[in-house]
Amino acid sequence: MKPQSITILGATGSIGLSTLDVVARHPDRYQVYAVTAARQWQSLAALAITHTARYAVIADEQYAEELRHALRDTDTTVLAGEAALAEVSKAAEVQVVMAAIVGAAGLLPTLAAVNAGKKVLLANKEALVMAGHLFMEAVAASGATLLPIDSEHNAIFQCLPERYTSTVGAGVSKILLTASGGPFRTWEFDALAAVTPAQACAHPNWSMGRKISVDSATMMNKGLELIEACWLFRTTAVHVEVVIHPQSVIHSMVQYVDGSVLAQMGNPDMRTPIAHALAWPERIDSGVPPLDLIATAKLDFEAPDMTRFPCLRLAYEAAQNGAAPTVLNAANEVAVDAFLSEKLPFSGIARICEQVLQQVQHAEPVSIDEVLAVDAMARERAEHLLQGS
Ligand code: NAD
Ligand code: MG
Repeated sequence: MKPQSITILGATGSIGLSTLDVVARHPDRYQVYAVTAARQWQSLAALAITHTARYAVIADEQYAEELRHALRDTDTTVLAGEAALAEVSKAAEVQVVMAAIVGAAGLLPTLAAVNAGKKVLLANKEALVMAGHLFMEAVAASGATLLPIDSEHNAIFQCLPERYTSTVGAGVSKILLTASGGPFRTWEFDALAAVTPAQACAHPNWSMGRKISVDSATMMNKGLELIEACWLFRTTAVHVEVVIHPQSVIHSMVQYVDGSVLAQMGNPDMRTPIAHALAWPERIDSGVPPLDLIATAKLDFEAPDMTRFPCLRLAYEAAQNGAAPTVLNAANEVAVDAFLSEKLPFSGIARICEQVLQQVQHAEPVSIDEVLAVDAMARERAEHLLQGS
């Protein structure tokens, strides 16, 4: 069998590198078509060389010359600019696209892959959160295969019945979305006001990019995942219960009407969901060591605290509520950026999100242009509130 060609959007990031690690273990199955990055031209050049990529795409055109120079003696063609991200996602030679750009910037290239009917491995949850309905419609219309990479959603996918189309009639009573609780799970509310970006980015179980690490610390990540689960598994927020599970060994569960609860377990290493989705419906080695249950010893569970972590409450309120998910996602991206550059205290993230949700109300967008317009409106509101804070 000829190896499948894969484009990795966001190749220099945490998910991108884990994907390349799994892909490199299976040269008989996969070959790298394109690797992309925002600005990190040096890492991108090194990845293109190591993985003999046909294309290296740098989103920010001001680094194109450096990248071209670094790859001048190779067979890799350099492309630059946002439109090029979509080009390498929809190219006829490509079978699989890993969508691992962080944030709203991933929406258009991911949609390009969806519209071209590719097998799309979705890590970029923000794309689905901001454009849920239209995104899922595009999947249905093109016949693309959408597979979840987020460890929880990948776990849920593995625990759902094979011929699942929605919770209705499939014997599924609830999705149990597990959360580690992040680095501040046990902290008092007052102490949270003073946390630093370094503290917020030090996740106890997972090593991830900075934006998702902050989202995990505020629990906005679980909120975005709640919305993501509603779209992926055609259910509603009342059927998704967040359960805190500090060890991150169970990656999520599905509860059935007969009382059965199915869980997917493993070490907290993203190469497992990546390998699962890459090979699905087959199974391949991911490089992840087997789970040592004796060493794990204990699996703990607790209820989430929406007073200390208001972002989770905001997401429950926003889920399937017009354009609120688009607004919430945009406000959060601006607020997290401000927190990471020390212009906003940690507790300000939830405050900015709540205020923007109150101030930007809009019916559910009916086109991607409208999604982008609502996204821009929410960002502008968030920036304005930041100036005043
Ligand atoms: P990261 O910050 O490590 O990497 C992000 C990648 O996107 C980089 O390659 C970067 O160059 C690229 N990028 C950033 N902004 C861009 C822009 N404007 N245009 C084009 N490219 C851009 O992030 P990550 O931790 O790998 O997360 C990627 C996505 O996967 C996020 O949506 C995150 O929520 C999701 N995810 C990550 C993990 C994890 O363990 N890291 C787990 C589940 C889901
Ligand atoms: Mg997750």
